[in-house]
Amino acid sequence: MKLRTLKQIKNLKNKRVLVRVDFNVPVNNGKILDDERIKLSVPTIEYLLKKKAKVILLTHLGRPAGYNGKGKSGYDKKFALTSVVKKASELLNKEIKFVEDIKIGRAKDQELYFANAEKEIAKMKDGEIVMLENMRFFPEEAKEITKLSKKIAKLGDIFVLDGFAVAHREAASVSGVAKYLPSFAGFLLEKEIINLNKVTEKPKSPFVVVLGGAKVETKAPVLKNLLPKADYVLIGGGVFNTYLKAVGYKLGGSLVDNDYLKDSLKYCKTMKVIKPIDVVVGTEDGKHYEVLKVNSKLEIKNSKLAILDIGPATIRLYAEYIKKAKTLVWNGAMGYFEKRVYSTGTLSVARLVASRARGRAFGVIGGGETLEAMERVKMTEFVDLVSTGGGAMLEYLAGKKLPGIRALIS
Ligand code: ADP
Ligand code: MG
Repeated sequence: MKLRTLKQIKNLKNKRVLVRVDFNVPVNNGKILDDERIKLSVPTIEYLLKKKAKVILLTHLGRPAGYNGKGKSGYDKKFALTSVVKKASELLNKEIKFVEDIKIGRAKDQELYFANAEKEIAKMKDGEIVMLENMRFFPEEAKEITKLSKKIAKLGDIFVLDGFAVAHREAASVSGVAKYLPSFAGFLLEKEIINLNKVTEKPKSPFVVVLGGAKVETKAPVLKNLLPKADYVLIGGGVFNTYLKAVGYKLGGSLVDNDYLKDSLKYCKTMKVIKPIDVVVGTEDGKHYEVLKVNSKLEIKNSKLAILDIGPATIRLYAEYIKKAKTLVWNGAMGYFEKRVYSTGTLSVARLVASRARGRAFGVIGGGETLEAMERVKMTEFVDLVSTGGGAMLEYLAGKKLPGIRALIS
């Protein structure tokens, strides 16, 4: 696999470059709570400006109604990019011309979709930036994407995908437009892929994967794909609960994915998968809890009780594996860490993974809550790759061909 990247574009001068970024930042009442995602694409944008390209930025923000063709769609002030444009302009220290084609999103107005954008782009000089409105205001962004993809492609000469977090999306502004223009990976996407390939291609042994979290449907394929490559997979959270249930344990109100009982039995029975030897069982409010050993006597009859963390003996056991790893991947919380009494397992794993990555292992983490836990222990800087793609990273690690990347490979 050879990814075509930004640096391979020979002549950028005066070229209209469409850059699909992921500026899907948390916004509350027009205030941006975290601008990290914008910051991460600054190097790509600055490089293009330096090479005298005309930069046209595309992103989505949130989930406006009907963006995937279900329900009423179109312009929605709540998801408008006004504050995002302002923040990006601040971070780039450069003016950004924001094109508000507010008629977008109504199928009958298809011809008008880019009426203003076309005019503004025609006026652009090299080294300038234009940003279009939220791509998800178009009902065709995520459904029947061909027509919209072609319309977007007409606005530029070259397409650059920089947002890894959207690379798993079959969407007009991601995979669609790439079919009609010479397309390349931006610096952020390139960095993600290079680092994830270190894990999927020739991981240094021992290769240890730590897998927890709630959404088992996204973890099971990762487990399946990484099992042959990994030396050990340490499990926790819903992944472990689901396995326990499949084995026949009564688990009270524990988080279980009943659709994955069979799969979890299939993947977890190997000796490579290391399971918790004790767990913290308690009430959701954290007022009552106790540590129980995982053995044949474990039985939770009360539906108000649940397994909400891995226990102290398990943390020690997992530490042994993590401390020896040369390659480390972590995704998914070990327990309900949002509640302090159930956070020990997850925060311990965070510290162990970061310490080892700081030293002798190549460490990768990804996933919304996983990153949050790492931030809580303030050790994010020690991890080699902090992936910006939760879903995209899991699909990549699961061995899937991501639609957004398919068109960037020669
Ligand atoms: P990520 O976003 O890192 O990929 P997930 O979204 O799959 O991870 O899951 C993280 C969530 O899983 C956390 O919010 C955490 O509270 C929850 N979780 C993990 N283990 C348990 C458990 N045993 N019981 C209830 N919730 C759990
Ligand atoms: Mg999550």
